[in-house]
Amino acid sequence: MLARPEATAGVEAWDDYLHLRENPAGVTEELWQHEAGCAAWLVVRRDTRTHEISEVTLAADVKRSMGVAS
Ligand SMILES: [Zn+2]
Repeated sequence: MLARPEATAGVEAWDDYLHLRENPAGVTEELWQHEAGCAAWLVVRRDTRTHEISEVTLAADVKRSMGVAS
């Protein structure tokens, strides 16, 4: 999870926040948007080594199951 630095944080902290990402080899969860279609946001469980997708859930359903108000 990305943690946004304080507005007064130094250049290094902002560079890290804006440009550096984890690049795990293995199963990861990503947010995808069906931009060219219905515009829905999806939570996609994908293995970055094989590109195998093992689970896709509507992000709205995940949000509901977490008890987060929309
Ligand atoms: Zn769609």
